Amino acid sequence: MNVHDSEQMAAILAGSGYKLTENIRFADLILVNTCSIRDKAAQKVYSALGRLVKIKEKSPELIIGVGGCLAQHLGTKFHKKFIHLDFVFGTHNIHRLPQLIAAVKEKREKITEIDFYKSINSIGVFTPPQNGAVSAFVTIMQGCNNFCAYCVVPFLRGPEMSRPPDDILEEIKKLADYGIKEVILLGQNVNSYGKTLENGMNIAALIKKIGKNSGIERIRFTTSHPRDLSDELIRCFAEEEKLCDHIHLPVQSGSNRILALMNRSYTAEEYMKKVDHLRKSNPRISITSDIIVGFPGETQIEYQETIDMMEKIRFDSTFSFKYSERKGTGAQKLEGKIEDCEKLKRLKQLQLLQDQHTLEKNIALEDTRQKILIEGRSKNSENDLMGRTSSWKIVNFNGESELIGKLVDVKISKAYLHSLRGKMINKEADSVD
Ligand code: SAM
Ligand code: SF4
Repeated sequence: MNVHDSEQMAAILAGSGYKLTENIRFADLILVNTCSIRDKAAQKVYSALGRLVKIKEKSPELIIGVGGCLAQHLGTKFHKKFIHLDFVFGTHNIHRLPQLIAAVKEKREKITEIDFYKSINSIGVFTPPQNGAVSAFVTIMQGCNNFCAYCVVPFLRGPEMSRPPDDILEEIKKLADYGIKEVILLGQNVNSYGKTLENGMNIAALIKKIGKNSGIERIRFTTSHPRDLSDELIRCFAEEEKLCDHIHLPVQSGSNRILALMNRSYTAEEYMKKVDHLRKSNPRISITSDIIVGFPGETQIEYQETIDMMEKIRFDSTFSFKYSERKGTGAQKLEGKIEDCEKLKRLKQLQLLQDQHTLEKNIALEDTRQKILIEGRSKNSENDLMGRTSSWKIVNFNGESELIGKLVDVKISKAYLHSLRGKMINKEADSVD
């Protein structure tokens, strides 16, 4: 989501004559787009800003702005912390960048704008894709109403709001005209898409509409809350040809007591039932997840329940995190905080197990034929192309640059932990495995 927010900032500023530069020393405007989901992300921002101060000391005309979740959280306090900062803008204020920059230039005074808007006017600025891009993000909703006990997002991104389907479709058609083949529908909880609209829309209906009307070859979405994963959406994985064989379905914990404390509103058994249902609907589906270890009060036995669940489900991959205390969240008040070294021990053990499962899942793809959307040249070898399976796995194989953006059939020859190696079978694939 932050990557896409940055793309939107660049697109808006292109309208005011700004161009992106690869070299920070050539910049006359620097925007730091921040995340504050975990403390580590916030610390990274502070050190980045510390480095920027030195550049500003040499070029006082340089304008520095800070946006995103940490800016939303700290507001004017950011100016006290970093006196070289010119402006601070919140998560709903990206569309106001040209006005904010003009005001800084005119008045040369510190500006802070972090108001939340009641309508969705602050998202959905059309972002022309970079040259050669194959895949694009499309925001379909913003905010979140879930208030999971560990999470700052609802405080910093505001209440959930869905974008009207016609606006989304129009954006996707435009992207297709630019040559985009794949869209990734974005939101904090895309499964509850449509709840704030009056026309009875939901994510399944939106996917069907995009599949039929947009000229796009592949559809993905992220992120899904397990509670809101409907039977209709699960059926889409069987019926909608353009919907990819992958779902990111964050579980967070395998312990029912911890899930209740986290305010996740499902049990481990309910989660596993959904996984079963997904796999029955589409046996090729890859399932990835997010897991937090060391939530306050998590006992060794409860941690083991997460491990046991992973053994049963065997995720294709997971993002796993040490619990990080965030100010103002429900979990901040809970007792039984776990020592950092214990959290780290649990995390490392869990990640080792996940590596085994990921490799096992990748090995199962050896000798299969996969349809690959080619994204570009491989980073590993100049003779290779890189693309992804429908199940979101990276595949490297020999091929010419003219094929970038095409869907081709590739036979998988070797599985590694983070990628697959393959051999192209034909250039223009027309069959789905
Ligand atoms: N909305 C998505 C969902 O509910 O699955 C995820 C949003 S969050 C940006 C991504 C992940 O960060 C979460 O799934 C969770 O695992 C992790 N996360 C959020 N807050 C955290 C915290 N305070 N400490 C550790 N991990 C956290
Ligand atoms: Fe945070 Fe929970 Fe909302 Fe995801 S669903 S953004 S974890 S509050």
